[in-house]
Amino acid sequence: MTQMEMAKRGIISEEMKKTAKEEGIEAEIVRKRIAEGKAVIPANKLRKLQKPIIVGEGFSVKVNANIGTSKGFSSLEEEKEKARVAIEYGADALMVLSTWGDLKAIRKAIIEISPIPVGSVPIYDSAVKSYEIGKNVVDFSEKDFLEMVIDHAKDGIDFMTIHVGVTQRVLEFIRKSKRTLKIVSRGGSIIAGWMLKNKKENPFYKYFDELLGIAKEYDITLSLGDGMRPGAIVDASDSQQFEELFVLGELVEKARKKDVQVMIEGPGHLPLNEIEMNVKLMKKAGKGAPIFLLGPLPTDRAMGYDHIASAVGGALAGYLGADFLCYVTPSEHISLPTIEDVREGVIASKIAATIADVARGNVNAWKLEREMAIARKEFNWEKMFRLSIAGKIAKEKHSKRPYDGDGCSMCGPFCAIKIAEECL
Ligand code: SF4
Repeated sequence: MTQMEMAKRGIISEEMKKTAKEEGIEAEIVRKRIAEGKAVIPANKLRKLQKPIIVGEGFSVKVNANIGTSKGFSSLEEEKEKARVAIEYGADALMVLSTWGDLKAIRKAIIEISPIPVGSVPIYDSAVKSYEIGKNVVDFSEKDFLEMVIDHAKDGIDFMTIHVGVTQRVLEFIRKSKRTLKIVSRGGSIIAGWMLKNKKENPFYKYFDELLGIAKEYDITLSLGDGMRPGAIVDASDSQQFEELFVLGELVEKARKKDVQVMIEGPGHLPLNEIEMNVKLMKKAGKGAPIFLLGPLPTDRAMGYDHIASAVGGALAGYLGADFLCYVTPSEHISLPTIEDVREGVIASKIAATIADVARGNVNAWKLEREMAIARKEFNWEKMFRLSIAGKIAKEKHSKRPYDGDGCSMCGPFCAIKIAEECL
């Protein structure tokens, strides 16, 4: 049975119990939200996740870190280290988005070492396979795409992005569109290219029932991908984006009927003042399904610091109802991220998720904030580092410019906290 099937039958699974404990919430609430489709636990039946997570309404905001190879940079060891670093700094899920090298071997190696859910985008395999066997992506058959999904499911992937909303009707909007950047999603561009060249409907859309059958068999959480997401602030919130969203919303109902867990992906590049409207519309169109946002980035002009821009967008989006934030690294739009970039990206996104949790009144988040305030008052530096999102880095900084009194080298003997404690 899938998590959703169990939840609908009133069964509380091990994963539901574990995630409820982690969130400090009753397991019955977890079960109820999963039964309603308002939350998901991405956990492939083939593997026992050490750290399952719950994503959705009423739970803490989660962070996903993308890793994976690209042409010229396809070292398995480096990807394993990226996964390790992402997990160390608090990523709640990983997506393996390799586009070069032995994709299956990399995918399986990451699944093996990851205690947290691992996601993928099966259609990327088509691009790589086309290189390997000298085929063009457009030569792939409709069934080839479904075979890729089965392959990833058998490897133990917990959630998959499927660009199912790129329909022929949506493509009509691209033709008429005045967008500067027509398509910026890799998966979206591959499937759109295949559809245009073959003059056929999107196979994921056409064979959605078969896709649901595969997802149900392995309990894969489907992340309905936003192949038409805007890739520039000037292109945000247009008909191309929303037409696809409404298709995804209809598919949510179909998935729920088959007991398949589903979430909806969203932009991308959004001006800060459009984040609220987008989050609310996604929740409405998706009938309350969890939403997974890429960033969002409220400016296109932060190259080299896109992780900071996305933390600003992510904090607001999370506060307004986004459930799952996909991190952005300092290398976004520039190059394949390094291990250091992965660390910076995860920290930035965790900060955004934490800010959102506090603003949403999350009980655990407030407990940690209270503990931090007391640790500061008591000059308990070890505790402060332990409570910090990037405590290791904070500790390094603290030791580089030490102070021999109670405060720190910022104010030295004129430490406001110390003076206040002595006087009041
Ligand atoms: S010295 Fe200044 S910065 Fe450092 S703990 Fe005291 S008040 Fe805070």
